[in-house]
Amino acid sequence: MAFITNEKDAGGKPVDSLVAERMGISYGELSQEKLEEYQLEAFKRTLRLAKERSDFYASLYGNTDPESLKSLKDIQALPCTAEADLAGNEWRFLCLPSSDIDRMVTVPTTGTTGKQKRISYTDDDIRKAIEFIRAGYEVMNCRPGERMLILMSGTSAGSIGDMVRKAVEPLGVSIEVFGSVTDIQGAYDKLMEMRPEIVEAIPWHAAALASYGKQFGNPEKGFIRSVNLSADVVPDSVVSRLERLWQCTVHRHYGSTEMCIFGGVECTAHEGYHLRPCDILYEIPETDGEGKGEIVITTLDRVGMPLIRYRTGDIGKFTDGDCACGGRLKRLLKVYGRKRDVLRFGQCEVYMADIADALYRCDEVTDFEIGLEDHRLSVCAKHLPGTAVDEGFVKDELMSLKGLRKAQEMGYCILELSFSESRGFASGYDLKKNVEYTK
Ligand SMILES: [Zn+2]
Repeated sequence: MAFITNEKDAGGKPVDSLVAERMGISYGELSQEKLEEYQLEAFKRTLRLAKERSDFYASLYGNTDPESLKSLKDIQALPCTAEADLAGNEWRFLCLPSSDIDRMVTVPTTGTTGKQKRISYTDDDIRKAIEFIRAGYEVMNCRPGERMLILMSGTSAGSIGDMVRKAVEPLGVSIEVFGSVTDIQGAYDKLMEMRPEIVEAIPWHAAALASYGKQFGNPEKGFIRSVNLSADVVPDSVVSRLERLWQCTVHRHYGSTEMCIFGGVECTAHEGYHLRPCDILYEIPETDGEGKGEIVITTLDRVGMPLIRYRTGDIGKFTDGDCACGGRLKRLLKVYGRKRDVLRFGQCEVYMADIADALYRCDEVTDFEIGLEDHRLSVCAKHLPGTAVDEGFVKDELMSLKGLRKAQEMGYCILELSFSESRGFASGYDLKKNVEYTK
C-alpha cells in the first residue's frame, strides 16, 4: 500500500491542497479572495439547479436571478432555510429522482415536535466528505501503522465508522469500531486491550473514560497519542481533562448530518477549524458584538439534495488570517453550542456548553442532564459508582458562570443541583446533548 507521506504533511496544507485541487488551481495560487470567487460561482450553479428541479426552492427563490448575484454579500439578501422547512418535506428539496439517491439518513430534529428529518446524499457527496476528512487526518498528523478506536456507532455503509475507515486506511491507519459507550467499564476494557494511538469519540464519552481510568492512574496515557472529539460541542474542560489525564493532543471536529458528517477539523496548531469551503459555504450573517452568530451553510456541489442558506442552529465565530500551521483560508474559530441550548433568564444568558464546561472541571463528573421548567434550572451531575464528587467545588464552578450567577442573584432563576451515579450512557446516545425544556 502506498502511504501518503511527509511531503504533504506540513501543517494545514493537506486541507488547503485539497481545496486548491477542487478549484483547479495550484496550491501556490490559493487565496481567500480566489476561493470566494469560486464559491460565488458554485453558489449560483447550485441555486440555478435547485430552482429548476426542486419544488421547494422554485417557490422560495422564484424571484431571484442567480446571475444578479455579484458577490457573496449579495447572497445575504436571500431568505434562509431551516430545519422546520425540511422535516416532513424532504422530497420537495430533492433535485434528482429518489432512485439516484444513494443514502438517506434520518435524524431527529432539535425542536420539540418529535419530528424527524431525512438528509439524502449521493455517492459523490459521501466521497467528497471522505476526501476532506482524510486530508483532516493528515492535518492531525495521523501516521502509518497507527491504530484508531472509534467509540461511536456505525459499521454500515455510509455511517461515520465506515466513512472514517475509508478516509484513514489509505493513510496506513487501521481502525476498529466499538460503538457508543453504553458501558464505561466495557469501553475502557476495550481501550486497554486494543491500545490504540488514536481515539475517536463523543466528548462526554471520552471524558468519562479518562475519569474511569483515573482510579488506576490512567495507564492508557502510555499509548493514546491523539483524541478526536466530534458529534457535539466540545467544552474546554473536557479537552484539558483529556490532555492532562491522557497526556495526549485533542482535536475537535465540527460537523452535522446536513454537512454529510464532516464540516471542519482542528489542526495541530489548535487555532480554529479548517473548513471544507469548496463543498460548503459557511456564513454567519448576523453577529453580536463579539462576532458570534448562527452558522448558515450552503452546499456548493450537491446535486441530490442541496441545502441553501440552511440555518444550522449552531452558534459560532470566524477567524481571519493565517493559521500557525500555514493554512491561509478563513477558519471557524469556535463553536459555542446550539441556539436552542442558550438559556435566557431575564437579561442573562447562559450557554448549555458553559454549564457543561463548569461541570467537567471536576474530574469525577462523567455525564450530566439539564432541564428547565419555568425558572427552575435543574442540573444533574453524574459520576461513576464508588467515586466521590466534591459537590462544593462543582457548585462554585457553576456559580463562576457570570450569567448564571446574575440570574440567580436577580431571582430570574433557581438552580437545583443534584448528583447521581451512572455506569454508562444510554444506547444510541451519540446524539447531541439537549436542554430538556418543560413548559
Ligand atoms: Zn491550522
